[in-house]
Amino acid sequence: MPSLPHLTAQEREAIRQACGFACVRCGVTIYRYLGLPADARDPGGATLLCPTCHGLVEEGRLTPGQVNSFHANPVVRQRHFARDRLPFSSEMPQLIVGGSRLLRDTPIPLTVEGEPLLIFAPPRRSQGATRISVRLGAPDGTPVQIVDGNEWLPDDGSWHFLLRGDRYSIMASRGDGLAVLRIVARNRIAVEHLRTTIRGRRIEITPDWMEIDGKRYIDRIGSGTLIGLEV
Ligand SMILES: [Zn+2]
Repeated sequence: MPSLPHLTAQEREAIRQACGFACVRCGVTIYRYLGLPADARDPGGATLLCPTCHGLVEEGRLTPGQVNSFHANPVVRQRHFARDRLPFSSEMPQLIVGGSRLLRDTPIPLTVEGEPLLIFAPPRRSQGATRISVRLGAPDGTPVQIVDGNEWLPDDGSWHFLLRGDRYSIMASRGDGLAVLRIVARNRIAVEHLRTTIRGRRIEITPDWMEIDGKRYIDRIGSGTLIGLEV
């Protein structure tokens, strides 16, 4: 399925709306904008698939006909779909990260040498999914945007995405970079594990502590501020 790099903001908004702000097959809120297979009822149309479901299409394990029927009837619009295990919330999420305090209204918990590793924002409209952005270090330590406002960017296999239970896992193919976000409730997200080296700085974060260049800190991230901590 072709990726669609030249969509306008309005086109993206219309696609998100049509798909229910998530992968049309599984409901994961991290996705790519992809052109529908040619035999679609909606020729030239576009859909959202998460990296896992897109991979199934590329491997031939999902047929174009199946993709078109998922698009015609997105899973999040089906009655049995459990929205609460995924970050569908109209509010800014509360964050569990680096200590015992719950962070509220803190869009960027941490920047490293000016690079925001994670950004959280409420959806643009009252319905929709929490907007999540993830930026980690490549094997050489240069920053890479992996997820930008829920859009999955890597197209060269350098990063992998996995939904496991209530966790979004993002892992580097080379090196030990990873980010695991746990959807505790629709409006509460825990940074279960984040590990990266970015611009020469070594960072490891869990719900309970964070380590910066080998030194451990607890409750260092400020709450109720645009950037919780700059290192
Ligand atoms: Zn999916």
